[in-house]
Amino acid sequence: MIKFCFHIILFLWLLIGSVAGQTNSLDSLIGNLRTMPDDTLKVSALLTISGNLRAINAKQAVEYAKKSLSLSQKLNHNRSKIKSYYMIAAGFITGGQSDSCVFYAKKAENLAEKSREISLLGNIYNLIGAGYRSLSDIKNAIKYGYKSVKLLEQIQDSTSLSYAYNNLGNLYWDKNDSLNARKYYIKALDILEDRKDSINLPNTYSNLYLVSGDSIRLDFLMKAKEIAIKTGNISDLAYIYTNLGSYYFNDSIDYSKALQYYRKGLIYARKVGDIYSMGQLYSNIGDLMNRTGKKDSSIIYIKKALNYSNEIFDAREIQDEYFTLYELFRSLNNSDSALHYLEKYNIIKDSLYNQDILAQIEDANAKYETEKKEAEIAKHKLKIALDKKKKNQIIFGALLLLMILTLIYQWYIFKQKRKNKEIELALKLQEIESKKLKELNEAKSGFFANITHEFKTPLTLIAGPLQDAIGRVKGSKTVEILRIAHSNAQKLLNLVNEILNLATLEEGTPQLQNSNLYLNKLLKRIFYSYQSFARIRQINMKMEFHPEQDVCISIDQQKLEKIIDNLLSNAFKYTNEGGTVTLSSEIRGDKIYISVADTGTGIDKKDLKNIFNRYYKGINSNDVEGTGIGLAFADQLAKLMNGKIEVKSKKNKGSTFTLIIPADKIENCPEKSKADEEIEVKQVTGSTGYKMKTVFDDKPHILLVDDNKEMIDYLKNILEDYFNIDIAYNGFEALEKLKNNNNYDLVSSDVMMPKMDGFVFRMKMNEHPEWSNIPFILLTARSLKEDKLKGFKLGIDDYITKPFNTTEYIARITNLIKNKKEREKWMSGKAEDSPDFIHDKTIDDELISNMEKIVLKYIDDPDFNVAVLAKEMGYSQRNLSRITRKLIGITPVNLILEIRLQKAYHLLKTHKFKNISEVRYEVGIEHASYFTRKFVQRFGVKPGEIGLTS
Ligand code: ADP
Repeated sequence: MIKFCFHIILFLWLLIGSVAGQTNSLDSLIGNLRTMPDDTLKVSALLTISGNLRAINAKQAVEYAKKSLSLSQKLNHNRSKIKSYYMIAAGFITGGQSDSCVFYAKKAENLAEKSREISLLGNIYNLIGAGYRSLSDIKNAIKYGYKSVKLLEQIQDSTSLSYAYNNLGNLYWDKNDSLNARKYYIKALDILEDRKDSINLPNTYSNLYLVSGDSIRLDFLMKAKEIAIKTGNISDLAYIYTNLGSYYFNDSIDYSKALQYYRKGLIYARKVGDIYSMGQLYSNIGDLMNRTGKKDSSIIYIKKALNYSNEIFDAREIQDEYFTLYELFRSLNNSDSALHYLEKYNIIKDSLYNQDILAQIEDANAKYETEKKEAEIAKHKLKIALDKKKKNQIIFGALLLLMILTLIYQWYIFKQKRKNKEIELALKLQEIESKKLKELNEAKSGFFANITHEFKTPLTLIAGPLQDAIGRVKGSKTVEILRIAHSNAQKLLNLVNEILNLATLEEGTPQLQNSNLYLNKLLKRIFYSYQSFARIRQINMKMEFHPEQDVCISIDQQKLEKIIDNLLSNAFKYTNEGGTVTLSSEIRGDKIYISVADTGTGIDKKDLKNIFNRYYKGINSNDVEGTGIGLAFADQLAKLMNGKIEVKSKKNKGSTFTLIIPADKIENCPEKSKADEEIEVKQVTGSTGYKMKTVFDDKPHILLVDDNKEMIDYLKNILEDYFNIDIAYNGFEALEKLKNNNNYDLVSSDVMMPKMDGFVFRMKMNEHPEWSNIPFILLTARSLKEDKLKGFKLGIDDYITKPFNTTEYIARITNLIKNKKEREKWMSGKAEDSPDFIHDKTIDDELISNMEKIVLKYIDDPDFNVAVLAKEMGYSQRNLSRITRKLIGITPVNLILEIRLQKAYHLLKTHKFKNISEVRYEVGIEHASYFTRKFVQRFGVKPGEIGLTS
């Protein structure tokens, strides 16, 4: 029942002032609408109509507001749109359709927020709050209530703020929180009092009356009445009189006063057509009649109230009123009517119950839907958050990966750079090194080439005159000797040329000079030049030509010759006695294959890849003469001729060098070229008919030891007229010869020889007493003092350095043999009478050395003679003579002379004195002619010739 508390007034912004007393203007406003143009003014008019109609006819108010909305949309005027939405919502809430109110108010809210219409927003929030309150959503209602208050406080819109305070007060009153309700009503009251807002003050006082339980509550109500009367606010007066009636009905129990106020209220309510208040007032009067025992009157008023309740579809009021009527009829014992209203009451109760249930279900559904929606929203939000998190994680991971990759890349680049730098540095170093090496090599080669070049002129000057001399000199022996000399000078010149050629080959590319020639003939000629050497060394020579028929080709003859000559000379050098050297040629397609095969030492595997390098000598070449140039030169030439040299070799089996070069076959070769003419086997003849004065009755026997075939030929040539010659090519062979022949009068040996050199050979001879006395001459290119000393210590009798004078050589040999013979003669005669014969070799050496020393001490003294020597030695002259004859094979006189002449020879050779007479005095020989005679006898050359030969 609503007997004690009247409904709480809703405070809304109305756009225009109160409708009170303005019904006329409202009608004229509606009348004017038709003639108004569609503009914002019309919108304002529509909204004003809606606002004024709201309290009277909420439905109509909504309609006018909707008209305003469509016009605003047409005009596309945001502020008008917002106001229209607001007025629609306000109309709906007044008409009890709170959900529609919230719906439209939210539209207004959205648009206002979007278009930043803050001045409108505060009131919109207030309306939404009111809407939620009607929907019993107190939580949202309070939220919007505060939102509204806050905003309005900010913009200091005090009128609207007073509405908002009032509504907040209403909310707290709903919650039975009269303290807070009062607080906000008073806030509203303060503003309204300030503004002397007589329109809204009565309602606020009325509200304060409701929430105040104390003695002053009536004062509030009286104040409201006073103001309302003053301002002629009829609708408020209806409400105030209703409350006054209720006050006297409930609080001070003055029924007549209560009825009086209720009736006054009815007058005003009727005036404004306030159906709601009318219903209330009739209901309250009915209750009053009932209480005062006027049951029939009560039934009439309740029935009147029921009409209004029906009019406004207030089911609860209807239900209450049915029940009151049921009780009234029952108390009047009018059971039919009582039953009738009881039934009505039950029906409506059930329907209300069902409505409640439905509402509850709806509520629950709505709540479920909301929660579902919220859960979905939360889920969605969570998903978004998770997605975002995931996305962030992916982004973070990707960034991290990118960072790591960048770091790795940078590290890789850094390493690569460092590596590149190292490589660059290494390359640079290598470059510098190889440049330096190249420079060094060039310098070396240059130096070598320069030095070699220096040899070229003297050698040419030797070879040239020799050639000339061969033409002029008569007598085959001399010619032969000159030829050998010339051949060797030529050989040396060739070698020098080879070195120089190699140098120029390396510097640039000389042009090929082709000529037409017969290949086999050329090869034969080169091959035959080795015939004599092969014969001496007992090496077999073989030739194989495919085809056998000679072919004319176009080729650089000189270069081809040099290559083949090099290969052949190697083949012969590295092949031992009994071996075979084969020269073969084959023409296949447009290429010629020329092979030089030998059955010699073969080449070590390690050497094979290097033998074509300049100056490289294999390990097998230790005892063999060579420069290491030959193959390098041949190889360069082959390349120059667009060919190559291939080698196959097996140690101790032999080697095959094959030259492969392209060559053009020519149809017509010149008849017989000069080169062909020269294809004669060059032989070194043995006997030359060279005669010299014979010194000995029988030709003494000499063993010549030398590894150089031409040197042997040469020596043989000069000596064989005077001596019987045997030949050995090294110490080893020489020992073999000594074993077979015990009668050698002299051995002449080279120092440097393969297999066994001169020194070792002499040492071996010393091991045999029968050989140790054989005079021994060392013939060598080495002139080192140490070598000489070493030689003499080994019992070598003489030492001749190359180049030497042949007569000197012969004289020395003759001298030594003569001494030997003399000694042998003396020894055979005196052998028996020699009691003090000295057998100890070291004592012998010491005696000779002492004698040498004494002679050398007196050497420049012409008076020094055998008597002085004997005296100095402490021997008698006879004994001294016996010792020298036995030990050296000569008399003391000749010993002194020998030492004088040796010293003179040495002084002349070393150019120690300016002229010969000085030398003569130096060695104690007074007479020049004697000196010359004896010197020639001893050395085979005049003293004046010594300097020339060295
Ligand atoms: P060399 O003047 O030393 O002979 P080369 O350039 O002609 O110089 O030869 C280089 C090296 O090749 C030689 O020292 C030798 O070891 C090896 N060699 C060349 N030809 C032969 C061969 N026919 N048999 C064995 N070794 C050879």
